[in-house]
Amino acid sequence: MKYCHIKAKLLSPLLIQRQRQPSARESIPYLPGSTLRGALAAKFFLVRGGPDHKDFRSLFLDNPACFPNLLPADEKGENCSQVLPITGISCKRDSGFKGEGKHGVKDILAVNAASRINDKPADEDFWKCPECREDMKPFSGFWNGDCRSPRKFEASSLYHRHTGIDRDTGTIAPSIFFMDQVVADFRKDDKSEEYHPQYLSGSMFIDEKQLEILETLIEDSLFAGAERTRGLGEIELSVKEIPYPESDIDGWNEQFKKRLQLFTEKDISSNTYFSIKLGSHAILTDRFLRPVSDIEEFSSPEFAQILKIVKPHTVRGWQSAWNMPKADDTGVAMGSVFLFQYKGDDPEHLKTFLKTLGIKGIGLRREEGFGRISVCDNLHIIEEEI
Ligand SMILES: [Zn+2]
Repeated sequence: MKYCHIKAKLLSPLLIQRQRQPSARESIPYLPGSTLRGALAAKFFLVRGGPDHKDFRSLFLDNPACFPNLLPADEKGENCSQVLPITGISCKRDSGFKGEGKHGVKDILAVNAASRINDKPADEDFWKCPECREDMKPFSGFWNGDCRSPRKFEASSLYHRHTGIDRDTGTIAPSIFFMDQVVADFRKDDKSEEYHPQYLSGSMFIDEKQLEILETLIEDSLFAGAERTRGLGEIELSVKEIPYPESDIDGWNEQFKKRLQLFTEKDISSNTYFSIKLGSHAILTDRFLRPVSDIEEFSSPEFAQILKIVKPHTVRGWQSAWNMPKADDTGVAMGSVFLFQYKGDDPEHLKTFLKTLGIKGIGLRREEGFGRISVCDNLHIIEEEI
C-alpha cells in the first residue's frame, strides 16, 4: 500500500450542492470523496471502457480504493489540509489564529474531560476571549494542522445568477430566478492582494496497481459536481506518494495529562488517554445497521469512553448511474471528537490497533471517503491559545 497526497486545482468554479433545493443552491466548501469517486468513474467510462473492465473493478469495486474528501489548501496545494476538531473555540468578535492577526484559538477537550471526571462544570472564565473578554464560540473549518504556525484554509465564494426558461414559449420565464453560490477557482491573498488558483487536497491509501489505473484517468482534466455542462467543476488532479504521518501516542498522552491535571485534583498520572477525531463524516451503525454515534471498535472493556463531543449530520447524495437521489444516511459530522482511556496492559497492541484503524477507517461507505479518523490531534494539547 502507498500513502498518497492527492490535490485538485480548480480550473473552473465548483458546485457541490448542500441541499436538494433547486432555486438557491449553495456549494459545500470542499470536494467530497463520493463526488471525486463519481467523477473518476465517469472519466473511466469516457476513456477506458465500461463497468465490466477489469481495471474498473480493481479501482472501484473488488477491493475499492477509499477516495478522500479534498479540502481547501494553501496557494500551491502542497499542504495536507485537516478538519479542525469541534473542540476548537475562538473569539466571537475576531475569530481565528493569533498568527493570522486574530484573537486566538483554544481547545476545550481537556477542560471538558476534567469537568466530567470532577462531576462539576468548568470555570466559566475558560470560555472568555483572553484578548477582549467576549465569549468564545466553536471555530470550525480547515487548517494546516500545525500548532506552531497555524493557518486556516478557506475557499472563496462566487455567485452565479441565471434565469428560468418557460417550457411552453422557450423564452425567459417571469419571476423565476436562480442563484448559485459556488466555490471560486481563485483566491485573493489578504496580505499581498495577489490572486492564487484554488487548490483542494487530501490523502489516501492505494495499492500500486490501483495507482497506475488512477494515473491513466488524470492525464487531463475531469469534471466534478453539478452544472458540468455549463463548464463548472473542471479540475486537474495530481497524486504523489508521501510518508505516512505517525501519531506520537505516548507523547500526546503525557502532554494531555498535564493539561487535564490543571483542571482536576484527582490523580490521573498512571492513566493512558488517546483521542479520535473524525476527519470526514462517518456513518456508524450497530450490528443491526441502526445508526449510532459510538465507535463499535472501542466497545470492548479495554477501552473506557471518557467523553464524546459529536454533531449529527445527514449524508445526502446523488446516484449518477440512476440519475436519482441516494437514500439519506444519518451520520456523525466531521470534526467530532472522542476521548478514551486505555484500560488494557499492552501499549504496543494499542499503538498497532490505532494505526490500523487510522488506515482502515470506521463505519459504512468508506470507499466514498466517509469514516476517516485521526488519532491524538495536536490541537487538544496546546498549552495556551494559538
Ligand atoms: Zn476577542
